Amino acid sequence: MVNHYIPSSLKEALKVLNNHDCYIMAGGTDLMVVKHQKSGIVPNFDKDVCYISNLKELQYIYEDEQGVHIGAGTKFVDIENSMIVPDLLKQIIHELASPNIRNMATMAGNIANASPAGDSIVGLYLLDAKLELVNVNGSRLVPIEKFILGVRKIARKSNEIIKEIFIPHHDDLNTYWRKVGSRAAESISKVTFAGGYQVEDGVVKDLRMAFGSIGVTCVRDQKIEQKCIGMTVEELHKNIDNILNDMSKNITPITDQRSTKEYRYKVAMNILKDFLNVIE
Ligand SMILES: Cc1cc2nc3c(=O)[nH]c(=O)nc-3n(C[C@H](O)[C@H](O)[C@H](O)COP(=O)(O)OP(=O)(O)OC[C@H]3O[C@@H](n4cnc5c(N)ncnc54)[C@H](O)[C@@H]3O)c2cc1C
Repeated sequence: MVNHYIPSSLKEALKVLNNHDCYIMAGGTDLMVVKHQKSGIVPNFDKDVCYISNLKELQYIYEDEQGVHIGAGTKFVDIENSMIVPDLLKQIIHELASPNIRNMATMAGNIANASPAGDSIVGLYLLDAKLELVNVNGSRLVPIEKFILGVRKIARKSNEIIKEIFIPHHDDLNTYWRKVGSRAAESISKVTFAGGYQVEDGVVKDLRMAFGSIGVTCVRDQKIEQKCIGMTVEELHKNIDNILNDMSKNITPITDQRSTKEYRYKVAMNILKDFLNVIE
């Protein structure tokens, strides 16, 4: 038999996690699907569950000089409607699942689920997001790319919770988002891409490229980005084939029920080309 805990404060939740091996449940939109058996039969939880969706302490969005802070319990709908969240993330959320799921689901759940098709993860990689993890002993700040280790593998200690997602300001970054799925809503991604660039006096000052659904984790190769920074836009456009060639080594999709690896590879390359051509 498993127990469930509904702590009324973050402090209490951390004590529960310190004393019991628990699943953390936020919106439950991933966890309930994973534990679902079949219609009419209760989900199959093999260990205790700690619910956090009622914790008001985790539901906030604010900004300071460094960036935007999003509490881990904040629902996607509130992030999408916020005036201070970067447009890229709002665009990603707008195409994620459907309004009913966005009313329940959290960005922290999307991150901790660590699916290669987790849409918000791609935008968070692009924007250099960091996660604040807390336990009874204190807290630590971890870059998202150090937190997600593989398919459904994360660097979370069993007594830790994601408390906050921090996104540094990138006020001058132009952003670009493409999600390819089977339909407009309720669609798990076949390929996603987030791009970012900044051009000053015809020179590329910043360039970022992040792919989802084409590898075990989100793919962002900062060595390729650095090679492009400092080029004029004209040089960048002349080098598109070289950039595609460099990036192709990172694009290692699989064939699954949603798509084939050949389709994903081709689409990823086409999107990248389109993005690089947009830069002016
Ligand atoms: C119909 C449907 C459509 C969907 N469409 C999309 C889509 O288009 N794109 C997409 O990316 N996803 C999609 N999803 C997946 C899901 O909705 C998202 O991944 C969502 O963000 C999960 O958030 P949640 O709060 O519901 O997480 P939960 O299900 O509560 O938890 C998910 C995982 O995160 C862990 N977790 C949650 N909160 C924390 C925390 N604060 N600290 C540490 N661990 C935590 C849980 O233990 C669990 O392992 C869809 C799901 C459904 C059912």
